[in-house]
Amino acid sequence: MSTTSQGNQGRLWAIAEISRRTPRVVPALADAKVSDVFGANTFNQKVMSDKLPRNIYKELLTTIKQGSKLNHTIANEVAHAVKEWALEKGATHFCHWFQPHTGLTAEKHDAFLTFGEDGLPIERFSGSQLIQSEPDASSFPSGGMRATFEARGYTAWDPSSPIFIMDGPNGKTLCIPSVFISYFGQALDKKTPLLRSMEYLSEQALRVLKLFGNTTATRVVPTLGPELEYFLIDHAFYALRPDLVTAGRTLIGAKPPKGQELEDHYFGSIKSRILAFMQEAEYELYKLGIPVKTRHNEVAPSQYESAPIFEEVNVATDHNQLVMEVFRQVARRHGLTLLLHEKPFAGINGSGKHNNWSLMDSEGANLLDPGETPKENLQFLVFLVATLKAVDERAGLLRASIASSGNDHRLGANEAPPAIISVFLGEHLSAILDSIEAGKTKGETAEQKVINLGISKLPEVARDNTDRNRTSPFAFTGNKFEFRAVASSASTAPPMATLNAAVGEALGKLADAIESRRAKNGDFNKAVMEVVREVIVETKKVRFEGNNYAAEWTAEAEERGLLNLRTTPDALAQLRTPEALKFFTRTGTLSEDELEARFHIETERYIKDIEIETSALRDIVRTMVLPAAFKHQAALAGAVRGLSDIGANKDLIAVELFEVEAIASLIVELATQLTALDAAVAAAESDDVEQKADVLAHRVVPAHAAVREVCDKIEEAVDDSLWPLPKYREMLFLL
Ligand code: ADP
Ligand code: MG
Repeated sequence: MSTTSQGNQGRLWAIAEISRRTPRVVPALADAKVSDVFGANTFNQKVMSDKLPRNIYKELLTTIKQGSKLNHTIANEVAHAVKEWALEKGATHFCHWFQPHTGLTAEKHDAFLTFGEDGLPIERFSGSQLIQSEPDASSFPSGGMRATFEARGYTAWDPSSPIFIMDGPNGKTLCIPSVFISYFGQALDKKTPLLRSMEYLSEQALRVLKLFGNTTATRVVPTLGPELEYFLIDHAFYALRPDLVTAGRTLIGAKPPKGQELEDHYFGSIKSRILAFMQEAEYELYKLGIPVKTRHNEVAPSQYESAPIFEEVNVATDHNQLVMEVFRQVARRHGLTLLLHEKPFAGINGSGKHNNWSLMDSEGANLLDPGETPKENLQFLVFLVATLKAVDERAGLLRASIASSGNDHRLGANEAPPAIISVFLGEHLSAILDSIEAGKTKGETAEQKVINLGISKLPEVARDNTDRNRTSPFAFTGNKFEFRAVASSASTAPPMATLNAAVGEALGKLADAIESRRAKNGDFNKAVMEVVREVIVETKKVRFEGNNYAAEWTAEAEERGLLNLRTTPDALAQLRTPEALKFFTRTGTLSEDELEARFHIETERYIKDIEIETSALRDIVRTMVLPAAFKHQAALAGAVRGLSDIGANKDLIAVELFEVEAIASLIVELATQLTALDAAVAAAESDDVEQKADVLAHRVVPAHAAVREVCDKIEEAVDDSLWPLPKYREMLFLL
């Protein structure tokens, strides 16, 4: 066969390409001192204090600390300082940087350039340009909201997140973190509901702190440290895989002879091309003031993880978006492609984003850190059981907040927590809650109880018991909770907004209950213990210490009455309940039309994902898999014919005959499954998006899997030199 008729030229080219590639070296990085570089591209506190008049600086700081709106009268002064700084740094353009409902960030750049009265070019940037901008927003998903109100959206500066400069290949852009809202104030983005949930949570948490005699804290903020898992593969392979290019994941691909069985990748030494990428990406992130801290290989081959030092949840959310963006860009410089999809490769682990979450008061105290005194620990218990209550009561909404077509492949696939939301507390803490529940310490004062229960020694207990169970979707890990079911590609805003609001709601209910009980019997500690005990009893069903991957847990969870929402449409249906509406509106997180819009946006997104996957899969099957199978079949048939032409006896032709029959029946099987897929797609046709999504999830997605299964068998049968797509063993191991 001549080389041009071979299907694997692309693969061979990619392999040759990869063997030539060496780590990209950036000389400037070798001597860079992180503490000098850190935040150099942000309009940080030091720059503010240098550039702004004292009174303006103070006012801006208060605005930032309290999360309030910027006073228009100082906006011009701030804008002037921002411009000076940006021009000194070499920026030519500015943009409002925001998070629409696409899952990505959006930016529209405007030049500082204007012309003065004398017709000469000058750079200008006004207070109103800093505060507000009107992007042409008609193409962002709005779930029908703007259509209803016939209004355009505008972006508004969110001073709680630092302004930064993004380096481009040939210039720099000033980026102003913003929210995106309609003229009627409806949130059109993911950030606004997050900020609202923070306000609500702070109010409710302060009520609890006041009950415990804390009169000095002025705010309580959630903190977030998102650990991000991701894959990197050589760009040459990526370019040859239409499924990765269009759907972000491989839609077919036979399991390699060696996968992750040897567990030799996890925490293994980092290959130099990858390390070079990490070092450059982290350098870029340091400039943006993003405190990336940990890097390591993950379980699957070619999978890695990055984790930052935690920050306030709104800033951490912005920073996580920037981490994903910077990783993507820097990967390309290294001839690599970043895969953030939750399940880029079947048969090996997918990627998640563990959301480490806690609460911090304005004095820096971690409210989920057990304290040194019984009183502190009583307060800790209130925050702990409030979180239990939040997860118990709002499990369905938490599940909905992490729903996406990608995450459906991961949740419950024996590598990630199941779709069932439960909480892991660890042995010691569980034992303490159990004994409070059992009321073993009757007759003692509440303070004595706390001591006798061992709660006064909580810090050691909790730390000692950290994180033994990696299978839980929501685990207490010493002084924070870890929401592990979040999707790797997702914004942390929706899950964090839901969690904040749910915990705020629970704290409010606990504060009410403690207040009314104290009013009745006068004893505060006793009131707290009684309320804590009630919540422990009521939330018992959501606590699970065992193996979340086990099939028995699914059965037990069902008995306990816990939700098991396996697919995105099942999960999103939770947003449509009257309870959901009450919850989101009461906590001020989402209004009725915003909630409705979110449901539609997420459902439509799901539908688009599955439709894209369907057409990409069809394309690959028709234009790559079948042609390769036909060629292979023809070659075998030719061999059979050739052998009989020369009069070879039956025994000598047996192998060829067997193989040609095998491939022929696989081809028939593939055609059958394709027809079944087409039938499923036809059945999904509906004007009702909810119904459509439902059929896609329950019929079309399984039909994809059936088509894939045959394709993978064909890949294993067909002459390697005819296979047009890079194989798993190449993409995942040849770096
Ligand atoms: P592991 O892999 O064991 O979960 P890592 O060190 O990779 O641990 O990640 C832990 C994450 O938790 C880090 O991002 C860290 O900043 C974050 N974290 C620690 N304390 C808090 C806290 N109080 N609030 C929020 N996140 C926290
Ligand atoms: Mg973790």
